[in-house]
Amino acid sequence: MSNFDFDFFVIGGGSGGVRAARVAASLGARVAIAENDRYGGTCVIRGCIPKKLLVYASHFANDFSDAEAYGWSLSSTSFSWQKLIAAKNKEIARLSQIYQDLLTSSGVTMLNGLARFVDTQTVELNGKKISAKYILIATGGKPYRPSISGIEFAITSDEAFDLPQLPKRILIVGGGYIAVEFAGIFRAFGTEVTLSYRGEQILRGFDTDLGLHLQEEMRKKGIQLLLNSTVSKITKQDDGMLTASVDNTDSTFDAVMYATGRIPNIDRLDLAAAGVDIASGGISVDPSSRTSTSNIFAVGDVTNGVALTPVAIREGSAVANSLFGPAEHIADLSLVPSAVFSQPPIGTVGLSESQALDQYGEVDIYSANFRPLRNTISGNHEHTFMKLVVDTKTQKILGVHMIGADAPEIIQGLAVAIRMGATKADFDKTIDIHPTAAEEFMTMREKKTKSK
Ligand code: NDP
Repeated sequence: MSNFDFDFFVIGGGSGGVRAARVAASLGARVAIAENDRYGGTCVIRGCIPKKLLVYASHFANDFSDAEAYGWSLSSTSFSWQKLIAAKNKEIARLSQIYQDLLTSSGVTMLNGLARFVDTQTVELNGKKISAKYILIATGGKPYRPSISGIEFAITSDEAFDLPQLPKRILIVGGGYIAVEFAGIFRAFGTEVTLSYRGEQILRGFDTDLGLHLQEEMRKKGIQLLLNSTVSKITKQDDGMLTASVDNTDSTFDAVMYATGRIPNIDRLDLAAAGVDIASGGISVDPSSRTSTSNIFAVGDVTNGVALTPVAIREGSAVANSLFGPAEHIADLSLVPSAVFSQPPIGTVGLSESQALDQYGEVDIYSANFRPLRNTISGNHEHTFMKLVVDTKTQKILGVHMIGADAPEIIQGLAVAIRMGATKADFDKTIDIHPTAAEEFMTMREKKTKSK
């Protein structure tokens, strides 16, 4: 038994922290976790889960409009934002409770409050000093808002989940995951959506064709997409409406939402007291999630790594296994699949065409752009796009990208094949399931060879 109060002290009860605490406790460590809010973190409380529930709710709009062509008569439909938010809140409370129950049953000591470093092996919480052999920082991130005049009137995704009313007109600033996901959600509920993005094409960093395709689909749905666009000022009128100066033209909105990235939650940790270094984007860590102080680790959105829940969970689990298990574990983040729950959604794994060209010099590109069967009878104009990026020399698949219904579900399965080193011939040999959209990945024959 060590002389410390705990073997492992976890700061932050989100996905990464909770997983690390539970794994460490299951390996026999004496573990405490500190959380200032509800358990569950960004993903459960104000991120992935409530967002996906809103996405499900918004898809009914499409389903209702398709239904008539399939023979259904719908007398009338109506939507209550308040009812949806209440149901969403109930589900989140349930999930948060499950997180707490799991910690309790694992024997983890749960402490409520803000923890701050006193030194490398001591934290202070509610005025009390607590020592631990190892400390894990898993405090996540928070929305970043650029400092423009009137930014205090803008909301972020945090507030968007609990708006008292569905906005009639909303301005969304940003062109990343959150901006496009919320643009799709609000538009499906009937809100007039304007999306202002500072660059030439949304979803920077993704395969270019995905961003282009989504832009087209968003416009088809009536989203006003402003590219190379700047919001310079927001003012609040007496009636509560907001006027935003977008590209030097004033327009009025019920809400202005900033989705301009997220920053690490480190302000109140006093990292300097423990000698923990930060770099651009978050706490610097090595591949084993160790910070510049050898007994302090950091996982998830608070680091300068990949800000995705499953990544935080893998990192948290690896830290706990390394510290308290028989051998060192390093989370393998070499091929991280991801999804954007835009409308239509995106699923992607591996390299984009331009990344592959940079790394391999020459690649074979296979792509398909089609109207899925479901949309033929209904007259729905939404198209699906799929793309394979293949190394010309070895024929190994380097990247699989899809935008269209069910893309995240389809790409999850294909990610296993890519991990195992599948080649184009492996895809060709695989018998397709007909009729599906996914079968297109098995039947792509037209090749375009591109070189750098
Ligand atoms: P992103 O980094 O995805 O996008 C931020 C957007 O804001 C970019 O378009 C960026 O432009 C723009 N931007 C940044 N700074 C400014 C500025 N000062 N003025 C105007 N525009 C600006 O961040 P999000 O907030 O959308 O999401 C945060 C992270 O959360 C994501 O990176 C992702 O890791 C995670 N997430 C994952 C989801 C999923 O898995 N489905 C869903 C939601 C979030 P530019 O491209 O020019 O830099």
